[in-house]
Amino acid sequence: MTPRAAAPADAGPTRSSAASRCGGGDAAISLPVLKDQRSAKPAIRPSRNGVRRAWVLGVIQALILLHIGLWLLGKQFGWFGGSGRTLSPVEPSETMYTLELGQINAGFIFFAAALLSTLIFGRWVCGWACHVVLLQDLCSWIMKKLGVRPKPFRSRLLVWAPFVLALYMFIWPSFKRLALFPILEAAWPAAATWLKPVAPWTGFSNHLVTESFWATFPVIMAAPTLLIVGFAAVYFLGSKGFCTYGCPYGGFFAPLDEFAPGRIRVDHDKCHQCGHCTATCTSNVRVHEEVREYGMVIDPGCMKCLDCVSVCPNEALSFGFGPPAFRKPAARNAPPRRQYDLSLREELAVAAIFLLAVLGFRGLYLGEGVPLLMAMGLGGIVAFAAFKTWRLFSSADVVRLQNIHLKWRRRITPAGWALAGVTLLLLVLASLNGAGNIAAWRADILERRLMAAMPPDVQQALFSPFNGEMVPQQVKDDAARIIAHRRLALGFTEGGLALMSPPDEWLRLSWLHVIRGEWRDAETLLRAYIDHAGPAEHLGADLIKLLLLQRRDREALDYGRSLLAEHPHWTGVAQLVEIVEQNVLPRPPGAR
Ligand code: SF4
Ligand code: SF4
Repeated sequence: MTPRAAAPADAGPTRSSAASRCGGGDAAISLPVLKDQRSAKPAIRPSRNGVRRAWVLGVIQALILLHIGLWLLGKQFGWFGGSGRTLSPVEPSETMYTLELGQINAGFIFFAAALLSTLIFGRWVCGWACHVVLLQDLCSWIMKKLGVRPKPFRSRLLVWAPFVLALYMFIWPSFKRLALFPILEAAWPAAATWLKPVAPWTGFSNHLVTESFWATFPVIMAAPTLLIVGFAAVYFLGSKGFCTYGCPYGGFFAPLDEFAPGRIRVDHDKCHQCGHCTATCTSNVRVHEEVREYGMVIDPGCMKCLDCVSVCPNEALSFGFGPPAFRKPAARNAPPRRQYDLSLREELAVAAIFLLAVLGFRGLYLGEGVPLLMAMGLGGIVAFAAFKTWRLFSSADVVRLQNIHLKWRRRITPAGWALAGVTLLLLVLASLNGAGNIAAWRADILERRLMAAMPPDVQQALFSPFNGEMVPQQVKDDAARIIAHRRLALGFTEGGLALMSPPDEWLRLSWLHVIRGEWRDAETLLRAYIDHAGPAEHLGADLIKLLLLQRRDREALDYGRSLLAEHPHWTGVAQLVEIVEQNVLPRPPGAR
């Protein structure tokens, strides 16, 4: 498997004065955007396929909004069968729930179809069907209008990040279930408690339709995620910065592209090596060199957007079928030499910062809070900002960020100091967030051990009026210790270390307060979680029980009835409501 290659050094022909510049480093790489020697056509013509692609991506975006809109209307007004039942999100990340929990959903079907089609047509989904690409293209377009040409950041190690992320999202859960846990539990049981367990496999189930459309994505994070993966990544890492360094789906599309017979191919007789194709490609592919050497584009970053085909002044390029990239012929001349923005030592340092920042903002084993894609985007930005800041203080040369001078005539400019300040702030935030994640990870381990050691009769008594007598003081003390760890994982405003509270921590804290018989605290935290994630049958039932344990029967009944009004098929809630109606509430005199 070959990761997305960073741009090689220029090996093109004589450059014109109109040479285009690309590159995220301070030493930019020149592209051979030549006046065509035979036809004397000077300018790169606009890409007709760019317009077509914008329309296609716009329609996809409109369909996504329509899907969300119909779900909201169903939820609010009971339209389309009521209670907001709709097609599950057509989002590849939903495949995680298929592989981990056996839930067949629309996202899994879409991703499977996309992967299979990639084996034939190459990595076309990225260019023609991804809403994040639309955001990135929009950002690039805005930047160009503002006179900023997004420059690619060329790293030899970070290009592996999408593949590693894809393995973590889609392969790691099955690996844990099928191989790692059985081995650890047999050989080293204590180590097995360090990892978040996978849910027991109960077979495949149909989740094509859902009521909890938004359950797997925190609403509050939608705008920041789109801003970071769509806009900041473009500014810092290049036009396809997120695709190259952050997208886990690309981590699978790229290696599969190697096997695809559908590729951009060249008619050697027509190609004059003018470089218009390379200058146009926003995926940072050295098109003119690859087609010269191999007769086709082999870079797995090629998204089959067809811009190069469209702008070629000699109609030399086309999309066609033939040998795949892994069966490419030997290079006709010297293979294109790759050039990177960082030395290997700098790469290793940047990769370490990237990894720690992703873990800091996300938490590898915790998996909640900041969505994974946003954590990847943030990690990339923190690593890039740290690298630029390092250059600011270590290099005597001019240091630039896009067209902004950070260091000029050996002096750090105000923009340079601002970048250093932002970098420091980001590193502090990532560190604090990471410390919160470690505290939560520690709490997870202690909690698993606590539950494993708890006798079944004590577990059954936790959520009952017998909690006080049945739960030993030692268990309650252990729960208090775990609560102290968990509280560190909350946001600053709630006394924790993190930037914001991961909602799942509220749920876990609520459960720990149940162990201690602290019903009021448990209720407050459970309500906070339900407000965030929306009601679910088991959560609603738990809240009713907590209200009953506090002798707030009328509130419990009203809450249960309100849930049943919206979800009449929630039998667990219906049973509780019936019990309250029959056994708890005082009856009017004479009633049977
Ligand atoms: S393929 Fe077309 S645009 Fe690219 S170098 Fe050859 S002639 Fe120029
Ligand atoms: S090589 Fe051509 S088709 Fe591939 S991403 Fe670049 S411009 Fe688009």
